[in-house]
Amino acid sequence: MSSKIHILKSDIANKIAAGEVVQRPASAVKELVENSLDAGAASISVLIKDAGKILIQVIDDGEGMSSEDALLAFRRHATSKIETAEDLENIRTLGFRGEALASMGAVAQVEMKTRTAREDVGTQVRVEGDEIREHGPVACERGTVLNVKNLFFNTPARRNFLKSQQTERKNVTDVITRMALAYPEVAWNYVSDDEIILNLRPKTVEDRIKDVIGMKQFGQLLPVDEKTDFLSLRGFIGRPDFVRRNRIDQYLYLNRRYIVNRAINHAVYQAYEHLLIKGTFPFFILNLTVDPRTVDINVHPSKMEVKFGNESQVYRFVLSVIKRTLSQHDLVPMVTVEGGIGAAGSNSRLRFEGSPGQREGVWSGESMGIPGQSDVEELFRASRSAAGGNIVSRFSPIFQPPAERIIQQEREGAPAVEGPGEGRAIWQIHNKYILSQVKTGLMIVDQHVAHERILYEKVLASFENNLPSSQQLLFPQTVVLPPNDYMLVQDLLPHLETLGFVLKPFGKNTVVIDGIPADVRVGNERKILEDVLDEFRNNEHQTTIDARDNLAKSFACKAAIKAGDKLKTHEMISLIDQLFLTSMPYVCPHGRPVVVKISIDELDRRFGRT
Ligand code: ADP
Ligand code: MG
Repeated sequence: MSSKIHILKSDIANKIAAGEVVQRPASAVKELVENSLDAGAASISVLIKDAGKILIQVIDDGEGMSSEDALLAFRRHATSKIETAEDLENIRTLGFRGEALASMGAVAQVEMKTRTAREDVGTQVRVEGDEIREHGPVACERGTVLNVKNLFFNTPARRNFLKSQQTERKNVTDVITRMALAYPEVAWNYVSDDEIILNLRPKTVEDRIKDVIGMKQFGQLLPVDEKTDFLSLRGFIGRPDFVRRNRIDQYLYLNRRYIVNRAINHAVYQAYEHLLIKGTFPFFILNLTVDPRTVDINVHPSKMEVKFGNESQVYRFVLSVIKRTLSQHDLVPMVTVEGGIGAAGSNSRLRFEGSPGQREGVWSGESMGIPGQSDVEELFRASRSAAGGNIVSRFSPIFQPPAERIIQQEREGAPAVEGPGEGRAIWQIHNKYILSQVKTGLMIVDQHVAHERILYEKVLASFENNLPSSQQLLFPQTVVLPPNDYMLVQDLLPHLETLGFVLKPFGKNTVVIDGIPADVRVGNERKILEDVLDEFRNNEHQTTIDARDNLAKSFACKAAIKAGDKLKTHEMISLIDQLFLTSMPYVCPHGRPVVVKISIDELDRRFGRT
């Protein structure tokens, strides 16, 4: 009886493999360029025609291949990079599966010319639909030239599945950009349909980043460089105001291999928590170096997925390094972009215009209007001098009457205060925004979110050092709560106390409020407690948020002065003083902008003065 099972012929097997290794022109480019890098090339040139559908040409000056190797290279599972099972555990090259050339040979017309340094004459190989059509000597430079023509010519389904010209070309550009960033010591040349997209000399990492993403953008990055015995993380991360509406500008590498890894991305986002405006993403270029024996990159044929031996260790390392980097730098925004105000709602605030190679390409940011650092300092100085040249305690309540503040300041050894607000241009408009003149223009502060940021940090600090600041109520309030609120109060009691509430659960859903946080206006105690509990429950479904952080946010949101609250001058000054003592004055804990600026240039422009 004949068996029903047979081994697939190599052309079919290779076609199947090609489905995973070479899914589109960009993946062919990736494989070819990886081969060039593995061959030690100092210079790589990529040329594509018709987004790579008609031609992908990769030329390198790497080690090349002998005549025999040139033929073997097109066999499936043929590789010079690993030999034993142990080698598979210790991969130090970009390739290792021995599938790429075989796959391309199965789904395209491939021509290769290659020569090693030892030989005077090179070798030419032509493969089409998995068949060797030509193999012989040829005169060529040292290194390798690969032409991949008419990709998917014999797999129409795959060819039809390709996206638009523009999309496929962009994918290729992304691949080359990622490689060029990771290999700054290599010269790169990239041409698409006769248009030079990249032409990069060998450079330092810093200069390469400047060349690829732009000089101006480079100024928005913070360097990251830390290592332990097992791990190192190097690269650059964007300041929190250098944000993106999408995740495209996130370059993550493992041992210089571009990878996609949700856990590490999450660690980075986590480090930026509360620093980013909602719906925006940080920019980063990070290379994680680990012992190859501790990771498995053989998860998928595309080699972009990896499995870490100890993922949680890597996660914690990345989180703490990025957090530290962010905290070491003064993160007051530097960007002063012209345009309208109200960035949060506008779509695509920052967008790259021009291809990466064009130095003229700019990230155009509309609607940023976030103040520059010097403005913030100026505003801060101005508000201090208006308040008598002393720094108010970071945590003094906004609503303390001026007299009390003076006493407190004198106790703290500060000079006595002249009338707050004197010599100071500060206004409240619509009982909602605070306006102030700064050297380069006009600063506008949203009073509610500003106060929210202040209270949030204050609460976090009191959680940290367990020092509640509360005010005793003259007349304790007895409140009957709905049963679920009552239970929540019992659960959160220690935290509520650290916050400044003095509460006695009395049974029967009754709570006596003896004291409230110092920042709450007396008379509001019951409402504040209920609002905070409500808000807490609203946020509870967000899994990433812990109870204390949730409480801090809920309290900050509910106890903060509202839009509509009229403020006195000294209250405005106190608010701004304290705002600029927070770690992140320009964005509220929910990610809304707190401060916007209209530059004098912008005003001049609008009034036709320029
Ligand atoms: P892998 O890279 O996984 O080994 P490939 O199919 O991509 O598999 O390549 C097969 C082999 O051909 C490589 O192991 C390498 O020895 C050789 N090779 C491919 N491209 C080049 C190149 N540009 N320069 C030198 N050798 C190359
Ligand atoms: Mg390869």
